[in-house]
Order: sequence, then structure tokens, then C-alpha cells
Amino acid sequence: LNRRLAEFGTTIFAEMSALAVATGAINLGQGFPDTDGPEELREAAVRALREGRGNQYPPGPGVPELRTAVAEHQLRRYGLSYDPDTEVLVTAGATEAIAAALLALVEPGDEVVALEPYYDSYAACIAMAGGRRVPVTLRPHEGAFRLDLDELRAAVTGRTRLLLVNTPHNPTGTVLTREELTAIAELAVERDLLVVTDEVYEHLVFDDAEHIPLATLPGMRERTVTIGSAGKTFSFTGWKVGWITAAPGLVTAVRSAKQYLTYVASGPFQYAVAEALALPESYFETFRADMRARREVLAAGLGEAGFEVFRPAGTYFITTDIRPLGVTDGFAFCRALPERAGVVAIPNAVFYDHRAEGAPYVRFAFCKQPSLLEEAATRLKTLA
Ligand code: PMP
Ligand code: GLN
Repeated sequence: LNRRLAEFGTTIFAEMSALAVATGAINLGQGFPDTDGPEELREAAVRALREGRGNQYPPGPGVPELRTAVAEHQLRRYGLSYDPDTEVLVTAGATEAIAAALLALVEPGDEVVALEPYYDSYAACIAMAGGRRVPVTLRPHEGAFRLDLDELRAAVTGRTRLLLVNTPHNPTGTVLTREELTAIAELAVERDLLVVTDEVYEHLVFDDAEHIPLATLPGMRERTVTIGSAGKTFSFTGWKVGWITAAPGLVTAVRSAKQYLTYVASGPFQYAVAEALALPESYFETFRADMRARREVLAAGLGEAGFEVFRPAGTYFITTDIRPLGVTDGFAFCRALPERAGVVAIPNAVFYDHRAEGAPYVRFAFCKQPSLLEEAATRLKTLA
């Protein structure tokens, strides 16, 4: 393994999912639902396969039906207008979008400011692009992990090329507020920075939290690459259909990198996702309400088991603090948890450069059947 990647090893998701399989523990680690999305979408994929749509290489930028559906979705929900031909690019999941955007936009030596804890592929992709990551740490404040705007401003230097944002935020469940996003936008404009914003959990916001795409803020549309994905919203994480929306110059740049990564992927699934994005609003509302109910089940169970619970405003993850259980090392805790309690979770420390800051936090996924979440909670109560 070369020096750029040497520090990364195996992703925590592979490690912990393998541990779940080996021990038979309930897997609340890697974020994937234990129930597939709507039957009609599975049928849409089967229909595309049978009718021979997407079985051969689809067009490099993505099938026109999906690019149009993405543009209509951004317009309908957020009032953001994108040209499906020049401002939308379909990718192999958000993962490829992140990689292609960073490979296309970062020069070796450039600094990339990212919110810490950060989704694990950010660090690896910044490294592959030869960039240097500069983490800005989200810290607990009144029950949620929040961004310190002064720290954010201080992190930007003359070498900063782009800001890498994620809202709703994995793993903390924070949904950035309009005030926080405005500060990010003003900074980007003032310092003339590009912004890559990962919004794959855009439909998973709860209670009175609102997902505000960064591209809707003044001065942002032309400098922002917005990343979306079908995996989370439609509960088909294996289909690997994602996309970016951005101004034509940025899309062209990202496409340059993307064409040498996969060229294209997921042909028949692209047609199915085009249908998914056009589902009536009731689908999205039901999905949200359903996940909110699951959050309640797991949050209550974790609370009763003695964890400090950071109730997430978005995503399908709950970050907890394990210190009330009398332990401080989330890594050791997660490695032992399958044997001790038959549950798998993710140590947030892997998402930090400042490992000590992340040490006491552990993430649990609640995108699972409520009965399974209850069983997990029962098991975790034996820890106390
Ligand atoms: N970004 C974030 C914040 C994620 O949690 C994930 C995992 N779903 C991804 C990107 C990758 O998404 P995909 O499965 O579409 O590649
Ligand atoms: N996004 C998922 C999570 O955060 C994992 C996806 C993956 O395995 N790369 O759990």
C-alpha cells in the first residue's frame, strides 16, 4: 500500500460487519436497512432489466431519465434549478461522487477543511487526491454536536481549496442550521472557496429540523457541488446510485475524474431510481415518520441501558457517550461489545484526527426493525 493510503487499512464498516457475522451479534454498526425499499421500485428495476434498459453501458453522465428526475427533485423540493444535460452527473453511489469531486478539484498540497468527525471515505479520498485534511471538530453543546464558527474561520488559510460539508451529519446526526450554513457560505464567498456538500441524508430529518441545501444560500450555487444518493432515501444501499448537481464547469471537472473511476455503473438501477425520485410526497413523509419511530425505540433503549444519548435531528444514527457506563475507550468498548452483549456498534474515534476527542463516543444505527432494536436494547441493559 502506498504512503498516501497506508494509514487507512480496512474500513471500520467492513471490520465491524465481519465481526457481527462471526459472532451472530445484532449489527447496529454499518448503516444499512434490514428491510428493502418499496416493492414497486424493485419491480421497476426488474422491468428495466427485462426490457433491456441499462444492461449495456449507459451514457457516461447517467441515463437522461435519471438526470431529469434529479433536476426535478432539486427544483420541486428546494427551488434549485439545474440543467439535466450540463449540471447533473450520475455516479456509483455518493462514494464515487465524493472521490471524483475531490480527485477533480483538489491539487496536491491543497488544504481541505472538513467537519470532524467525518465520514470515513473523506479522509481517504483527500489523501488519494494528495490534499491535506484540516478537521474542524463538532462538539457537544446543549445535547447536539455543533460547529464552532470561529474555529471554522480559523481553519481556512491561504492554502485552503475547498470546504467539505456534510448535513445531515454522519455520525453525529446533527442537521446544520441556517445560521451555521450562512456562516459557511459567507466564508466560502469571502475566501473564494469551492464547497462539496454531502447531503445523502436529506430526506432523513426529524421533528422541527429542516434540511437546507447549501447551494440555496447566496453566492453558493456556482461554487457548490451537491452530492445525493438513492441508497439511504429509498433503502436500497446495494444499488449504488448517486449523483451530483453543480454548475457546468464543476460537473465537467468531476466527470473528468469519474470517467476513469467506473466510467458508468448500475445501469438498470438508474431507471428504477428515476421512478423513485418521482414518488409522491407521501412516500418521503412515511419513510421519515417510520425512521423517527425507530429512533425513539433505540434512543429510549440506549438511555435505559445507561448511555448518554445525543438525540439525532437527522440521519439514521445515534451517537452516544459511553462514559456514564464507567468506560472511556470507544474502540475497546466496540471490539468487546459483540461478545459481552451481542451487539455491534461503531467507535466514533475512527472518524476523528483528534482521536482523543472522539474516544468516548459510539454510534448505533437505528434503520432496523423495531423488534430488533428492542432486542438490542434488552441486551445492552445487561452492561449496566
Ligand atoms: N456519505 C455519507 C455521509 C454516508 O453516510 C454514506 C454511506 N451511505 C455515503 C456518503 C456513501 O453513500 P453511497 O452508499 O451512496 O455510496
Ligand atoms: N454509510 C454507511 C455508514 O456510515 C456505510 C457505508 C459503507 O460501508 N461504506 O455506516
